[in-house]
Amino acid sequence: MRHIAIVGSGPAGYYTAEAAVKKWGEDALIDVYDKLPVPFGLIRTGVAPDHQSIKAVSRRYEKTAIGDTVRFAGNVTVGEDITVEELTSLYDAVVLATGAPRDRQLDIDGAGSRNVIGSAAFVGWYNGHPEFAQLDPDLSGKHAVVVGMGNVALDVARILSKSQHEFAGSDIVAHALEALRESNIETISILGRRGPHQIMMTPKELGELLHLDRASPHVDNADLPPLEDDAFLEPGVRKSVTLLRDFAAIPENIHGEKPIAIEFDFFANPKAIVSEGGKVAGVEVERTKVEAGRAVGTGETYSVPADLVVTCIGYRTSPLKGVPFDERAGCFANDEGRILPGLYCVGWAKRGPSGTIGTNRPDGYSVIDIVDQDIGGGSRKRGREGFDELAQTRGLEIVTFRDWQKIEEAEIAAARKGAPREKFVDIDSMIAARGA
Ligand code: NAP
Repeated sequence: MRHIAIVGSGPAGYYTAEAAVKKWGEDALIDVYDKLPVPFGLIRTGVAPDHQSIKAVSRRYEKTAIGDTVRFAGNVTVGEDITVEELTSLYDAVVLATGAPRDRQLDIDGAGSRNVIGSAAFVGWYNGHPEFAQLDPDLSGKHAVVVGMGNVALDVARILSKSQHEFAGSDIVAHALEALRESNIETISILGRRGPHQIMMTPKELGELLHLDRASPHVDNADLPPLEDDAFLEPGVRKSVTLLRDFAAIPENIHGEKPIAIEFDFFANPKAIVSEGGKVAGVEVERTKVEAGRAVGTGETYSVPADLVVTCIGYRTSPLKGVPFDERAGCFANDEGRILPGLYCVGWAKRGPSGTIGTNRPDGYSVIDIVDQDIGGGSRKRGREGFDELAQTRGLEIVTFRDWQKIEEAEIAAARKGAPREKFVDIDSMIAARGA
């Protein structure tokens, strides 16, 4: 028998569990731990609430989760309730699938001003992550600035622009829907420190901006490189750049039909946040040029008004005591997923925050191949049984997958008309909803 612990129940965690079941069948017991009482990590709290088709992948994880081989143990914080060292003494292999839940910091003057918010917090707020549900961003001003030109920046800009009607069928939480209803935002400037050819937004997602009820994307023709240069681009990026060209060609009268402008500001590197009375009032930006793929400052500066700033410049894994960390990459120090004997990592915790949900699948399968090479037929470790003993002595209240199904039933029952669910946004309500 092999005893495997997976820490984190997001895509990386469940693809790893799926791979373990495929590899060893009933000759392994796999325990998936999560700090929250609810599973699926980024699928629940990261993927945008209006992207339900992406969230549907959780149905696949359910298939892995149901049954006795894989056990979901929610409401267990590794590093607090149990240490990594204790887990490695109980299990043949511990795989850290903890993702990258912390914001990469925008390290400029004024970044601590009120209403300058990192994307982990802002996305967590509209997705009902218990840690960020109380964020209460101030949307009363006219200007929002989104820093970064990746898909998270795109999610944030789109969510800030949508009408109430466009959230039909989404699972955006009630507090965010209500705040967005009262929002006064008219201009959303997306700042990219490099140019259109370096855009990280993918075409499918970028194309959605052409179909928003109230908002229209603005690109300045002068920022676009000569058309013939697009031929050298990788096909996905070329499609995105073609969309930017389409945006630049939108006539003024069409823009005029929509009250919200989403402005792409390329070659724009934020240098300082300006505040008034402690609250953000603008962003000082230096104009850049791109040399050998890098943004180089030109010395020319200008300011962009901002009543709200959301930084979407990437994420970092949360360090864990006793686990070597790669500060530069912002994830655990590892060699193809191996961290220390018996300790592994997968997904964003292994390679940093890049790729799609699906990228985690091969990651999960490859880490299980490596674990298989290392542990062979397993050992006489105590695994689940040992954990349960320890949990009892510590008074830990584990939330199982069956409990989660009851929580989910309650969320579905509470859904507003047309929505798939109304999420619980605090841990006590989640735990209470599982019933006796
Ligand atoms: P990302 O794609 O890496 O984009 C980060 C952006 O931040 C880049 O434009 C980067 O510019 C910019 N940036 C980084 N540091 C900066 C700084 N100090 N100042 C100014 N700009 C800075 O990251 P992400 O948007 O957080 O997305 C993470 C991953 O999740 C990506 O793989 C993404 O595709 C994926 N995702 C997918 C979806 C979807 O498929 N629907 C939705 C959300 C996220 P440089 O390029 O110049 O460094």
